[in-house]
Amino acid sequence: ILEINGLVKKFGDRVVLDGIDLHVEQGKVIAILGPSGCGKSTFLRCINGLEEVQGGEIIFEGEDLTKTSKWREVRQKIGMVFQSYDLFPNMTVMENILLSPIKVQKRKREEVELQALELLERVGLADRANAYPRELSGGQKQRIAIVRALCTNPKMMLFDEVTASLDPEMVREVLEVIAQLAKQGMTMLIVTHEMNFAELVADEVVFMDKGKIHEKAPAKEFFANPQTQRAQQFINILK
Ligand code: ATP
Ligand code: MG
Repeated sequence: ILEINGLVKKFGDRVVLDGIDLHVEQGKVIAILGPSGCGKSTFLRCINGLEEVQGGEIIFEGEDLTKTSKWREVRQKIGMVFQSYDLFPNMTVMENILLSPIKVQKRKREEVELQALELLERVGLADRANAYPRELSGGQKQRIAIVRALCTNPKMMLFDEVTASLDPEMVREVLEVIAQLAKQGMTMLIVTHEMNFAELVADEVVFMDKGKIHEKAPAKEFFANPQTQRAQQFINILK
C-alpha cells in the first residue's frame, strides 16, 4: 500500500532523514522506535505532506506523493493523530468529526453523523458528542482525535506518540483503541515509546537513529534479540 524509497529530508543543511526505505503492506502494523530527535515525527509528517522532501519517493497506492498536488485528498486516505490533541476548541466533538467528511469529502451530513456515532460508540464516547474539547480528559480527546481521523475512511493511519502527554491511567484506554484497529486490519505506522504495546500490536519494528533505519524486524524478534548495538542500548534504557 505504501512504498518509500530513498527518502531525504533536510532542514537547511541539516539532513534529518537520510535515505529511508520502507515498504508497508496492506493490513500491517509497523512500530517506529528510536531516540529523541532521530527523525520519527519528521518521517510521518513527510508521508502526510506536512513537510517538503528533498529526495526519494513515497508511493501510495501507485502514486508518488512527492509529486502530488492533491494533498488534501491524500490526507483523507492517510489519517494522522499527533501527540498534542489538535481538536478545534470552538467546536463540539461532533462538529470536529464532521468537518472533513462534509467540507472536503462532500459527503451527506446524515450519513457521516451515523458513522461518527458508531465510531464514538466503539471508543466508549457516544455520550460526549455534544461536548467541547475543554470538557474532556486528555485520553478522551485523543480517542476523539482518532475517531475524527477514522471518519474519513482512511486506508492507513499514522500515530505520532499519541499517548506521550497523557496521564498513565489514560494511556491504556487510547492504546486499547489502537489495538482494536490493528485487529480489524487497519494499516498503521505507530511512533511510540510504549515498548510493551509495540511488542504486542506491531507486526514489524523499525528502529531509527540519526535519520536512518538501522534495523527492521518482526516485533517479537526485535525485542527478543535486537541485532544492532544501538537498538540493544535503546531497548535496555527503556526497560
Ligand atoms: P522525538 O522522539 O523527540 O519526538 P523525533 O524522532 O520525532 O524526536 P523529529 O521531531 O523528527 O524527531 O526531529 C528530527 C530532527 O529534525 C531534530 O534534530 C529536530 O531538531 C529537527 N527538526 C524538526 N523539525 C524541524 C524544523 N521545523 N526546523 C528545523 N529542524 C527541525
Ligand atoms: Mg517526535
